[in-house]
Amino acid sequence: MRAGVPGSSSAVRVVLLGSGELGREVAIEAMRLGCEVVAVDRYANAPAMQVAHRSHVVTPMTDGAKLRAVLEEERARPHAELLVVPEIEAIATDELVKLEAEGLRVIPTARAARLTMDREGIRRFAAEELGLETSPYRFCDTFEEVEAAVAALGAPCVMKPVMSSSGKGQSVIRTPDDAKKSWDYAQSAGRTGAGRVIVEGFVHFDYEITQLTVRHGNGTSFCAPIGHVQVDGDYRESWQPHPVAPAVREKIQKMAMQITDGLGGTGIFGVEVFVAGDDVLFSEVSPRPHDTGMVTMVSQQLSEFALHVRAILGLDVPAGDIPVLRPGASAVLLAEGENEAPIVEGLDEALAVDSTVEVRVFGKPDARRNRRMGVALATADDVERARELAKRAASELRVV
Ligand code: AMP
Repeated sequence: MRAGVPGSSSAVRVVLLGSGELGREVAIEAMRLGCEVVAVDRYANAPAMQVAHRSHVVTPMTDGAKLRAVLEEERARPHAELLVVPEIEAIATDELVKLEAEGLRVIPTARAARLTMDREGIRRFAAEELGLETSPYRFCDTFEEVEAAVAALGAPCVMKPVMSSSGKGQSVIRTPDDAKKSWDYAQSAGRTGAGRVIVEGFVHFDYEITQLTVRHGNGTSFCAPIGHVQVDGDYRESWQPHPVAPAVREKIQKMAMQITDGLGGTGIFGVEVFVAGDDVLFSEVSPRPHDTGMVTMVSQQLSEFALHVRAILGLDVPAGDIPVLRPGASAVLLAEGENEAPIVEGLDEALAVDSTVEVRVFGKPDARRNRRMGVALATADDVERARELAKRAASELRVV
């Protein structure tokens, strides 16, 4: 790759579809290598827009005609190469498939973006086409179908809108009597409102792992397993490395290889698995950096964002297992209530917790309950200590 000058026809242009905190880190890494970055999201002043060369607001991002108009505008401006880099699931992926057929390069592929846009596409692909082991599941469109699914799968089970992420609309059905409440909740909280849900058998896992997997010019590389804690379907803490027995690690990598080969293209993928004893169950995959992978900003020399950018630009990525520099942890900062132009307080206190502590403030223009507004990161000689430091630092932060 040859690096040009952003703002001129010599630069590689990276168009981010989705401009949250993960996109912002991708933007920074791409800029470090001379790319011109254009950030797109459904609202103005999104985190990645604040660091990008240019931005566009497309509301909603699932509007194919609007998304096409922006991408055609960007394609018409002179550039050395143009990469469309999705950062969120809820985008007009059918339009991306068409644009890719017309010669636009979508990361990792438009098909991967389409399959992972909703829970049904990726679950059917993983379980029914690739034969990966998953929790038992049923898709339901009506409450009657939910009742049948709960009877077939047995309580407890988990209900999630197919068009949702970060735990929105997700709940556990502990007894069949909970089914109606879960259904009503899913119908009110999914990304596009009412609609189809997945009901999954509850997995009594020992732990869950994000296996960051990089497909690049020279093959596939694996980051060390990332452990994480989820509350109400949304991540609160993550750490790297999570200890995994060699035989289980091998199974995880094999599964990650199968799903990422199946999706194709280049870039980083966050493969989420459940581990119960020696069994590994596939849960989900993001064809892009993963939120639990923010820990790699301190635990690896090349973060998941740097690896993603290197892979998509066709630059060298370390082969095989990517080493952990030092055990690390992340703990998120959530907003408590709703407010505009929120302020993050307590930075001095958070940074004083330990010399290894780093904080990322996302700069989101408004807060709402449980919206992720920042993250505290720390490293230590062992993961337990790193977790403790990151949690302590995060607890010093508040959104007001
Ligand atoms: P997801 O949005 O599918 O990644 O789900 C968010 C979190 O909910 C996961 O990381 C798990 O902690 C939990 N979860 C999801 N599905 C199941 C399941 N079938 N059994 C147990 N826990 C689950």
